[in-house]
Amino acid sequence: MNHATMSNSLNRRQFLTTTLAATAILTTNVIGLTSMGLTSKVHAATPSSPAVPGLKLPAIPYEKDALSPYISANTMGFHYGKHHQAYIDKTNALIQNTAFANEPLEGIIQKTAGIQEHAAIFNSAAQAWNHEFYWKSMKPKGGGTPAGALSKKLDADFGSFEQFKKAFGDAAATQFGSGWAWLVMNKGTLEVVKTANADTPIAHGQVPILTIDVWEHAYYLDYQNRRTDYIAAFLDHLVNWDFAEKNFTGI
Ligand code: MN
Repeated sequence: MNHATMSNSLNRRQFLTTTLAATAILTTNVIGLTSMGLTSKVHAATPSSPAVPGLKLPAIPYEKDALSPYISANTMGFHYGKHHQAYIDKTNALIQNTAFANEPLEGIIQKTAGIQEHAAIFNSAAQAWNHEFYWKSMKPKGGGTPAGALSKKLDADFGSFEQFKKAFGDAAATQFGSGWAWLVMNKGTLEVVKTANADTPIAHGQVPILTIDVWEHAYYLDYQNRRTDYIAAFLDHLVNWDFAEKNFTGI
């Protein structure tokens, strides 16, 4: 039991002892605690269990050093282990005891998009979703060119693969501040779009095919301010075109 857990338990015990002493309101308080889920929390609060049940950090489909040297294990440790985990934890904390508590991530995003009072939930949930999609958008020894139906559609909608690559790279490079660049399917046409901060195509009726995270935390440890070098490495060595093809043919 760590210090924080111990002091929490003691606080609860002191609180419960105080409550038990007030016999006149005992029944009301015990019912109140149970209905708020507080009594079950006392039993669940062990150091090995997550603070809040709910969404879990999804596994990434490769080892943390597998994208090296283009994305280092150090970056993966912070980006996946700390940032992505924090978005999951924050979402869980914010949806607890709300109407969103049992919603899948996509549902939370779609029901909170554009609603000011739910902006905090949207930001955490959308970032959780975007990151899972980003990890899958890459693979070791990726990059190169797509094959199959997606390749033909890229040629049809962008003129050539090279023109797609330039449009995607430009969008990623020119997203001012934090955000994302995406290849999406929008009403039957492949398009490159960029989104700011946590915003995500699934809140706008578009179908994501591929994404790159251009928040500084995605590249700063490896590339410092050289965002364009990171974008070039992503396109030439990391893109998982099999994943993109699957997203395209699954529409
Ligand atoms: Mn990120």
